[in-house]
Amino acid sequence: MDRQQEFVLRTIEERDVHFVRLWFTDVLGSLKSVALAPAEVEGAFEEGLGFDGSSIEGLARVFESDMLVQPDPSTFQILPWRGEREQTSRMFCDVLTPDGEPAAADPRNVLKRTLAKATEMGFTCYTHPEIEFYLLESQQLGPDGVPVPVDGAGYFDHVPGGVAQDFRRMAVTMLESVGISVEFSHHEAGPGQNEIDLRYADALQTADNIMTFRTVIKEVALMQGIYATFMPKPFSEHPGSGMHTHFSLFEGDSNAFFEAGAEFQLSKTARQFIAGILRHAPEFTAVTNQFVNSYKRLWGGGEAPSFVSWGHNNRSALVRVPLYKPGKGQSSRIEYRGIDSAANPYLAYAVLLGAGLKGIEEGYDLPAGADDDVWSLSGAERRALGLDPLPSSLHDAVEKMEESDLVAGILGEQVFEIFLRNKRAEWNDYRLQVTPHELKRNIGIL
Ligand code: GLU
Ligand code: MG
Ligand code: MG
Repeated sequence: MDRQQEFVLRTIEERDVHFVRLWFTDVLGSLKSVALAPAEVEGAFEEGLGFDGSSIEGLARVFESDMLVQPDPSTFQILPWRGEREQTSRMFCDVLTPDGEPAAADPRNVLKRTLAKATEMGFTCYTHPEIEFYLLESQQLGPDGVPVPVDGAGYFDHVPGGVAQDFRRMAVTMLESVGISVEFSHHEAGPGQNEIDLRYADALQTADNIMTFRTVIKEVALMQGIYATFMPKPFSEHPGSGMHTHFSLFEGDSNAFFEAGAEFQLSKTARQFIAGILRHAPEFTAVTNQFVNSYKRLWGGGEAPSFVSWGHNNRSALVRVPLYKPGKGQSSRIEYRGIDSAANPYLAYAVLLGAGLKGIEEGYDLPAGADDDVWSLSGAERRALGLDPLPSSLHDAVEKMEESDLVAGILGEQVFEIFLRNKRAEWNDYRLQVTPHELKRNIGIL
């Protein structure tokens, strides 16, 4: 038993914790949870807890026999929303095979493998997500078949006494109480749309934090009698919900992306990292934008990126280099704007980081940045500038991912195959649907 494990056991006793929830995710990033009696925790640390892997979405064909989850004591946290009398806590888990090996299809393990590679190359990876989501009156659609947002406010609007403001106050308090620091929160551009930005942390902790964040946000919404959704594009006519993520690599205590005096103060490492992400973006977009609906966001305007480009202060860019503040070399970073709020954060961060590291390893050259608004250029102008489109649909994204040795290597063959199979099924299901849009457009004239 190590010190962290002992700390957890002691806290469970001192705080009179009645339930310990063990959390892990499936391949699509849905949170799975099993509640454990406090007396069982010691055994779970030592031997793991058995569960039937074959009934977890996406893992069925891989987890043929019983699998184990083993709690990570560094993630122990008391959950605030279950009331004081019967304290509940949670720990994230690693999934293991019956002989105690890390399970190849565990998304947390996929990210850990990529992070181990970064460590081998001498880097620690920090991430900072900006998470957008919509607050709706309820899960039910309105009479016109679209969701009903809780307000009609817009970007940075201050709505006195508004639902969203109360919501953000309670959500931020609750996030802080589970150890997640919030940097920034505000109303976003769409009606009922909000954004909460988390303080930077290492990539694994950020991915765990995002899973906790989604749960907290949904719980707080329910407490306030409303509903929160992370769907990438719930309204055709309003912006989608992105999960822009800032990345930086550190070598020891110094930011490897910073070079005083270089263009945009970007080091060679940073330029190669961006080049890796840009070159491989079309191959990994199925992972960062994993649903049919994700492509309605990418191609639906609302400041979502549609083309592979990078820029300095240009919000149409897929990768943006935030303005450099003199004397802030340690905060040098790049922002990936493609990823949406419904991505599996473990897999998405693994492919993004893996592509960036590939750029460093192979010494990729960074193409010229785009200073223009790339949406307003013509197709010919974009081609002349070498600006390729992101995949236009889940189908297109799956086809590009199928060809990618890089993505297969990062995810591992098992996750790669399971993921693609799941996504092909989603697409095939979608393309058979006759949509209200077609009916409305066609029924009266055809
Ligand atoms: N909602 C936009 C998106 O889907 C981003 C808006 C912003 O720049 O924060 O990416
Ligand atoms: Mg935003
Ligand atoms: Mg942003």
